[in-house]
Amino acid sequence: MLGHVHPDADVLGTLLALGLALEARGWRIVYGGPHPAPGALGFLPGVERYQVLKSLEGAFDVAVLTDCPNPGRTEGLIDQAKTAASVVVNIDHHPDNRRYGHVNWIDTTAAATGEMVYRLLVGLEAAITAPIATNLFTAVHTDTGSFRYSNVTPATFQIAADLVAAGAEPAVVSSALYERRGAGALRMLGETLSRIQVSEDGRVAWLALPAGSVPETFVESEELVNYPRSIDSVRVACLLRVLGNSVKVSLRGKGDVDVQKIAAKFGGGGHPNAAGFTVPGALEPVTRDVLAAVRAAVSP
Ligand code: AMP
Ligand code: MN
Ligand code: MN
Repeated sequence: MLGHVHPDADVLGTLLALGLALEARGWRIVYGGPHPAPGALGFLPGVERYQVLKSLEGAFDVAVLTDCPNPGRTEGLIDQAKTAASVVVNIDHHPDNRRYGHVNWIDTTAAATGEMVYRLLVGLEAAITAPIATNLFTAVHTDTGSFRYSNVTPATFQIAADLVAAGAEPAVVSSALYERRGAGALRMLGETLSRIQVSEDGRVAWLALPAGSVPETFVESEELVNYPRSIDSVRVACLLRVLGNSVKVSLRGKGDVDVQKIAAKFGGGGHPNAAGFTVPGALEPVTRDVLAAVRAAVSP
């Protein structure tokens, strides 16, 4: 069960759910990816099994990737998986998926890969245990912004209802995701939000975080890009943060500008309303370039 860089709840929840279901049928599973699971997702059942893998050792029958659109998103592990495993299975909902597997199941209408893996487990007649339900419910919960984004469909709620019936606890998941801040983190959030800038026409808002301004764990546990997105007039919100000699950029839209197209110009990707990329360079010039591209996309 192979995860993408900076793993989120959709990739972790689906890998763990599928892996737990297969383990119940006697499979031996290794879970891992290029980066560790963030501490904020430490409540996902089984996440302690998720390892940092810099290379794949040994032979595998199957390598499964979920929520992972392209080989670059595993820092080369997909290419190794093609040698180490007889079959590579690619389960994803990203429109820009490169179909790198032997089996490719791409459903761009799914709000989260969590919806797809739920359907797969139902099809396999696997028992949806409470730990599996919690993993899949969290995957759907986070990729839909707590059931608020335009990717939410009737199927999303039907699947969520089934998962709650199977033992996922919405209040426990919401509290684990959003109510575990320390008092210092809330103050840090206040200070960080004061850095948000808004364009003169009000249509673009951005938050540029210089190196060392906030700890990595803080950024991982806060969906900071949602705050500039929450401004009424804003059409595209951007979060830019320094990672080593690069800048990691998150873009969010509200339906009228396709931010995936902007991200693609910088070698990234994602969905029409949520996309991202990482580019080498310093914060100021990257911010300037990104804002120029965003403004061009936003202007009528
Ligand atoms: P993020 O802003 O990192 O939360 O990512 C938002 C969306 O963009 C997710 O669906 C990611 O899969 C996608 N995304 C982020 N960075 C990249 C990248 N470098 N290449 C392709 N897709 C990305
Ligand atoms: Mn993901
Ligand atoms: Mn996803």
